[in-house]
Amino acid sequence: MRSTKIVATIGPASNSLEILQNMIEAGVDVVRLNFSHGIAEDHIARSNMVRQASLNLGKEVAIMADLQGPKIRIGKFENGQINLESGQTFVLDSACALGNEERVGLDYKELTRDVKVNDILLLNDGLIVLLVQQVIGNEIITIVQIGGILSNNKGINRLGGGLSAPALTAKDMDDIKTAAQIGVDYIAVSFPKNPTDMEMARQLSKIACANSGHKIKLIAKIERIEAIEITNLQEIINVSDGVMVARGDLAVEVGNAAVPALQKTIIKMARESNKLVITATQMMESMIYNPVPTRAEVSDVANAVLDGTDAVMLSAETASGKYPLETIKQVANICLEAEKSEIIHLDTDFLDRQFSRIDQSIANGALFTAFHLGAKAIVALTESGATALWMSRKKVKIPIFALTPNISSQRKMALYRNVLAINMQIQNNREEAIAQAQEILKQNKLVKSGDFIVITVGSPMGQAGGTNGLTILRIE
Ligand code: PGA
Ligand code: MN
Repeated sequence: MRSTKIVATIGPASNSLEILQNMIEAGVDVVRLNFSHGIAEDHIARSNMVRQASLNLGKEVAIMADLQGPKIRIGKFENGQINLESGQTFVLDSACALGNEERVGLDYKELTRDVKVNDILLLNDGLIVLLVQQVIGNEIITIVQIGGILSNNKGINRLGGGLSAPALTAKDMDDIKTAAQIGVDYIAVSFPKNPTDMEMARQLSKIACANSGHKIKLIAKIERIEAIEITNLQEIINVSDGVMVARGDLAVEVGNAAVPALQKTIIKMARESNKLVITATQMMESMIYNPVPTRAEVSDVANAVLDGTDAVMLSAETASGKYPLETIKQVANICLEAEKSEIIHLDTDFLDRQFSRIDQSIANGALFTAFHLGAKAIVALTESGATALWMSRKKVKIPIFALTPNISSQRKMALYRNVLAINMQIQNNREEAIAQAQEILKQNKLVKSGDFIVITVGSPMGQAGGTNGLTILRIE
């Protein structure tokens, strides 16, 4: 069983039931809808297709809506694109309608208030570099440091961060409603600067789900310099269900070289806080065009696995690349190999931890017992998936089978590292439920006769947060 999960963005390259089915079969656990592209109808149609593909395969996947956020962009050019020469003057002009070789308009009109002389502006994910020379009225006058082709609507970042745009735009607020209507499992919030941005997204998603009673988990994309300041990062983690190491924009804000160490810090902090974590962007970038990855990409995916990420994410590779299916197969294989060399241990912090909740104590007790007994599996009879989440935060590589009657919990658990969620209509009677669990595991060939398994269970059954019992049994 592969422990690390795969998030795949869908787009034009993956826009048919057949391709989606093949992708899910090859290992996709979470499908990402990128709200930076397309309209509500596209996302609704695609998610219907994903649910249909899941149904046909009998494999539940999670759907994650990734909001566009305040991507600060230039406007359009008369001829679609220009060529910038190093050393030339180039003006960002919030009053310019259609750009040319000398100037271009701005989607984000407030940029003139946010920048000052000697700021470095990075366009098109850092490929083009501009040095601010003067700011006069609606014009930012710059000298091109690194030139190249610049086309319509490319993003702008400031080296060192500090752009004031709020995390949730009017478009994002509409998109949260669409996401709620679709019934997505996760929403990823782009460019949050502080916990308030996440709390705002939480409020909006609760309001959007008020009638359905559906619950959406929130992922904070860590991609702004403000968000990596340690106490702020911890506070953002605390109010989110998970984080994304959003290396694309993060690299532009903090500089490429700082990203690998930050990735390790963010993954560690998320796991220690009992939160989820996704590692994203350019993981298999060359596979957009080539059927095999580079050695460096293979190492990158493997290192994210060893860092302890719940999932690795694919963007253009599966949304618009030439080899979406091959990319997933490659990633699945790299994860499996890397997991073999994972160092397995029970964290010592575990010994002097205090738990405030009964279910959390049981989850940790189950881990301890399974580890020392050499159990082959941990089974969580769970309503919300909380027990499985706690157990999956530790590097004890015993597979966790989460049996749940709740399809929404089952889908969400598709993202949890080392957890396989399976549907089971849990009985009222605890003995019957345990017998049924054993039957399901045997049917699916997940355990064999003689194996010890550790089971967590709640009494009465079927209550979220109600886990209060631990049973050990030997498979007949
Ligand atoms: P994006 O986010 O692809 O939506 O920009 C991920 C990242 O910045 O890495
Ligand atoms: Mn981003």
